[in-house]
Amino acid sequence: MTTHSDAESPETRIGKDFVRTIIDAHIAENKYDQGRVQTRFPPEPNGYLHIGHAKSICLNFGLAREYDGKCFLRFDDTNPSKEEQEYVDSIQEDVRWLGFDWDEKRFASDYFDRIYAFAEQLIQMGKAYVDDLSAEEIREYRGTLTEPGKPSPFRERSAEENLDLFRRMRAGEFPDGSRVLRAKIDMAAPNMVMRDPTLYRIKRAHHHRTGDAWCIYPMYDFTHCLSDAIEGVTHSICTLEFENNRELYDWVLDTVAAFPERPYQYEFARLNLTYTVLSKRKLIQLVSEGHVSGWSDPRMPTISGLRRRGYTPEALRDFCDRIGVSKANSMVDFALLEHCVREDLNARAPRVMGVLDPVRLVIENYPEGQVDEFDMPFHPEDESQGSRIVPFSKVLYIEREDFMEEPPKKFFRLAPGREVRLRYAYYVTCTGVEKDADGRITEIRCTYDPETKGGWSKDGRKVKGTLHWVSEAHAVPAEVRLYDKLFSVENPAAVKDRDFKELLNPESLTTVQALLEPCLAHQEPGWLCQFERLGYFCADAKDHAPGKPVFNRTATLRDTWAKIAQKS
Ligand code: ATP
Ligand code: MG
Repeated sequence: MTTHSDAESPETRIGKDFVRTIIDAHIAENKYDQGRVQTRFPPEPNGYLHIGHAKSICLNFGLAREYDGKCFLRFDDTNPSKEEQEYVDSIQEDVRWLGFDWDEKRFASDYFDRIYAFAEQLIQMGKAYVDDLSAEEIREYRGTLTEPGKPSPFRERSAEENLDLFRRMRAGEFPDGSRVLRAKIDMAAPNMVMRDPTLYRIKRAHHHRTGDAWCIYPMYDFTHCLSDAIEGVTHSICTLEFENNRELYDWVLDTVAAFPERPYQYEFARLNLTYTVLSKRKLIQLVSEGHVSGWSDPRMPTISGLRRRGYTPEALRDFCDRIGVSKANSMVDFALLEHCVREDLNARAPRVMGVLDPVRLVIENYPEGQVDEFDMPFHPEDESQGSRIVPFSKVLYIEREDFMEEPPKKFFRLAPGREVRLRYAYYVTCTGVEKDADGRITEIRCTYDPETKGGWSKDGRKVKGTLHWVSEAHAVPAEVRLYDKLFSVENPAAVKDRDFKELLNPESLTTVQALLEPCLAHQEPGWLCQFERLGYFCADAKDHAPGKPVFNRTATLRDTWAKIAQKS
């Protein structure tokens, strides 16, 4: 696996990707009736969707849009013990939030009767048999990559016997795991998937839709191709892990021979992202073991987590667009995702002021009890966003790190004797500090120049630093959550001999008590903004309430992607 560097290469941005090239060819040769294009997004409802799924959603729904085709949302619900309604609901919410809608919503379980009928058809054709071997024996008999498998002693059962046994499996006569239905293909096939794959298993589990109607369930490989064909899918797009399954996909559809315009499978590279994991199995562990607050914890790479973090659908779609679709597995830098959200929020997030680590700033010569009201635009380049009033008074708060008693050369902020601008307000000059018994600064003292009102000096005097601030008497206390990478290593899934959870970044969440300007007291949950100089933030969708503000930092302002892109 290589670190991703082709994110913005001309191939992915200007030329067509391989999927679109294939579709164009099919349209040209009239492979499907009237150049029809139909795709599907087929999640298993066993977890929340993550950013990898967003790639698949943008591709499948995007193709339908571009080619004036159709895209179904299909829940691949053949594994009843792991599936839940909560996941079905969250998946629909996330797809819609990303900006897509399905032509039809289906469930693989809608087709259980038809899939069962195809299984009986295969049995009657002598192409499937009931096997009594245990799961372990089946594994042993399957052979290895270098050795052919050997036939099960039950492989040569007659069609009548197989049909009888299969019907009794369905009727619930046999215990879980005691028998399976297998396709009769080739125990010496070089592709292991083709060595008599299992089509049905016995499993007594309550299904979220079919309840207890079934005690046998079809396997993925049997269900997926048939579901695609039943729906009229033309291009069945999945990730590269399924490359070997393609042969079986084709075998099933060609053998049942019930679909004149059958779908074909195409594989693309899944998304891998640095400093996180994109596997539901792993994400479930983070949730169930309490490493995060839930599926939509803002540190999670889930769509709901990114949403709560402040990511926009536009940013996620832009990201998917930039990474493109290819057949080469790669690792995409998380910085690219952040770059996309910054670009989007830079264009539209209102600018406000908040101080995350406040220290008092007292203006000695500012009249006690006086309040200046500064009318500040929300967005310097977008007048339509209007403005708000920000009060200024004798006692303010500034960021502790914006002051240094003994500043190094390149420090242009506040220091003893130095003059800086308070954003939109006045120039101030530091006159001294007060400290507590431990030597920690408790208060910075300064004077202001009334002639610099609005933040500009009439005599052309320049200052190098501009600081954000809030007025003590008007400040709104708020909880602010600062997020960092979820894992401390680039590729936690690849670290050998250590459980991936040991690689979690212990500093992925820092909570601070901040002081914010007054307009932030009553914003709606989900409201996005830029805290000047600090980054992009959003009002937390769950815990924020007008009067009790809670903000999440979506991203800092510093764009690390630009540097990475330059290097490569
Ligand atoms: P996970 O490995 O996270 O459990 P999955 O493949 O089991 O994912 P599904 O619900 O089966 O999850 O996935 C639905 C669709 O999303 C499939 O077509 C799958 O190929 C695609 N998909 C899943 N993960 C990624 C990814 N990281 N990048 C691109 N597509 C993905
Ligand atoms: Mg899957």
